[in-house]
Amino acid sequence: MYRDGVRKSIWQEEIKRISSEADDKQLFDVVIVGGGITGVSTALKLQENGKNCILLEAANIGFGTTGGTTAHINDFFDTTFDEAINDFGLEQAKLFAEVGKEAQDHIKNNIKKYGLECDFEEKAAVLFALDERQAEKLKDIVAGASKVGHEMRYTEEISFPIPFKEAVIIPNQAQFHPIKYIKGLCDAFLQLGGHILEDCICESHEEQDEIIVLKTSKGEIRTKNLVYATHIPPGVNILHFMTAPYRSYAMAFSLNYDEYSQHLGYDLTEPYHYYRTQKIDGKTLLIAGGEDHKTGHEENTGECFSRLENYVRQYFDVETVYYSWSSQYYEPVDGFPYIGKLPGSKGKVFTATGFRGNGMIFGTITAQILTDIIVHGKSKYEEIFSPSRIKPVAGFTEFVKETAEVACDFVKDKITAEKIASWEEIKEGEAKVIKHEGESFAVYKEKEGKIHVLKSTCPHVHCEVRWNGAELSWDCPCHGSRFNVNGKMLTGPTVKDLQRIDIEENSE
Ligand SMILES: Cc1cc2nc3c(=O)[nH]c(=O)nc-3n(C[C@H](O)[C@H](O)[C@H](O)COP(=O)(O)OP(=O)(O)OC[C@H]3O[C@@H](n4cnc5c(N)ncnc54)[C@H](O)[C@@H]3O)c2cc1C
Repeated sequence: MYRDGVRKSIWQEEIKRISSEADDKQLFDVVIVGGGITGVSTALKLQENGKNCILLEAANIGFGTTGGTTAHINDFFDTTFDEAINDFGLEQAKLFAEVGKEAQDHIKNNIKKYGLECDFEEKAAVLFALDERQAEKLKDIVAGASKVGHEMRYTEEISFPIPFKEAVIIPNQAQFHPIKYIKGLCDAFLQLGGHILEDCICESHEEQDEIIVLKTSKGEIRTKNLVYATHIPPGVNILHFMTAPYRSYAMAFSLNYDEYSQHLGYDLTEPYHYYRTQKIDGKTLLIAGGEDHKTGHEENTGECFSRLENYVRQYFDVETVYYSWSSQYYEPVDGFPYIGKLPGSKGKVFTATGFRGNGMIFGTITAQILTDIIVHGKSKYEEIFSPSRIKPVAGFTEFVKETAEVACDFVKDKITAEKIASWEEIKEGEAKVIKHEGESFAVYKEKEGKIHVLKSTCPHVHCEVRWNGAELSWDCPCHGSRFNVNGKMLTGPTVKDLQRIDIEENSE
């Protein structure tokens, strides 16, 4: 498996093993944990700046959300500029807007400097309102964009066959193939003397006087600085209570005509639909995404694909569905990502999380921010993205309440889990949380009848996992840890597997 789910994403063919030899007894300047766009970009930038770095990845480069993204490189964000002005003030919102342009330039520079072939294309985006309410929202978005100097122009026509009320064109956006891009960055990193270790889980770290000692599945590693580019940091941290895990769904279709839109596209429904195209083996495909929900809060995740497909078929003349996959992202409580020093650490441990659906930009800018802090002592974005900021914005109470409700739900899950008299009660292909002698277990029966039994309590902070039938995984609704049917960790913040229980399959 090259990704954290059983479904194949459109990018996955390009994932290959990348590992290098390293004397792991040496003292590194920086250990970067996590082989997605954030970790790989950061490792390269630090190595370019003369630091001796090693990148550790629990599975393989591109295993996490970067292998399941849709890779729009858009510099207008899920947190709109009008929301940023309302919650953070105009000056901070202007700085927020600068991030997009700066990150796009970084990506373009990397592509040019290292001659990367990653299907990069610059194009405009269209943002369209489907009804009156969305048109009002669009008006606010455009007004906010104008205040921070970001161009959005009203247009009478859009290149998507979807009836709309109002729409704007946003120039200077882009897209690429995320795996080809990060693979190119990895090659450049190795060329510069960096090291990559795959299949290496970072289990914990200890901050000593001058150094940090990492406990990993491949032994101890010593470093002066540590970056958790793991999408959400491992361990238990205040950041786990300031972010919430969500899943989003993507599908790639061929159409019965050749007029694919040349734009990136977004409507303003909640959750919104997003569109782009990608050529695979010479064939153009439309990638559509949406149907987002909180991790562990959708009973039948397979239905999210049906709903997305039905929605797309309403407007597009679909020929064939080529790919369908889902992946995870993190919502921050106040709308800005958290990039910088890990709260509670002594100042040499860093992280980046809470990117919403804009990780191509925020993962890329993380490289610049953390390099500026580690090499030069400061970054202009340090304050606005500080993971230690306390920003009680509108919606904060609701966010905390929702998190508390999730915690209550998991107690309820434990109490209400079903009792079964025999394994026969579980059908082939079915998954259930069952109760036995006061303990609850996550059980999955394969199509061929083989039964997998796991303890259903997530090792992170002991919530109860829930079944995700679309990706055949057990997902924790509290902080987004995920496990395959064998209990193996797929997604952090956990660093441990679910406990496997060996059973006699013919036992009652
Ligand atoms: C369906 C979907 C579509 C999206 N579309 C877009 C888009 O169009 N544009 C955009 O900008 N953003 C988009 N996003 C968001 C974006 O994809 C993510 O924000 C981004 O990929 C996150 O990258 P990352 O490197 O931080 O994390 P990841 O790619 O998740 O990488 C983290 C890595 O860390 C590893 N890891 C975790 N724990 C450990 C450990 N303890 N030890 C070692 N390794 C560990 C994991 O195996 C993983 O490979 C989308 C998200 C989703 C879900």
